[in-house]
Amino acid sequence: MNKALFLDRDGVINKDINYLFKIKDFIFIDGIFELCKHYQNLGYIIIIVTNQSGIDRGYYSKSDFDILTKWMIEEFKRNDIEIKKVYFCPHHPDIYGECNCRKPKPGMIFQAQKEFDIDLKNSIIVGDKEKDIEAGINAGLKEWYLFNEKSIILKSKAKKIVIKLEDIYSANIK
Ligand SMILES: [Mg+2]
Ligand SMILES: [Zn+2]
Repeated sequence: MNKALFLDRDGVINKDINYLFKIKDFIFIDGIFELCKHYQNLGYIIIIVTNQSGIDRGYYSKSDFDILTKWMIEEFKRNDIEIKKVYFCPHHPDIYGECNCRKPKPGMIFQAQKEFDIDLKNSIIVGDKEKDIEAGINAGLKEWYLFNEKSIILKSKAKKIVIKLEDIYSANIK
């Protein structure tokens, strides 16, 4: 079985500007490559789970998303990081209705579990919104971290709220 590091995309991997789809607007967040390397070296596989309702809303297309994703995976590769897969939810509840993939639902995590034989009880999620944390809880993951760069979230079910990505794995974790 594999243990996995699940990452939200917008606000964890890249600076969150609403409905990002252009490569030129994609800015990696400080420490994301180091975070990935840390867990990769510990034997975790890395999987991205991202809500992309901008597709349903027509703000950008699935193909825009694919182009950006391909580029992003290459950037990780250039930093010696393998992203196993990017799962995305294109749905918006007002347009599609209820789906099983949109976080806080754990659908994308369960899909990854099947595909990559993931041991959820030994896996981690990092997100910047409470719905990421709830998806991690709903999926039965071991640890859920809230990256709160701007210190705007004061209360969360997360195991830990961090303002720097490196605080997730630095020594002060029990
Ligand atoms: Mg996010
Ligand atoms: Zn969905």
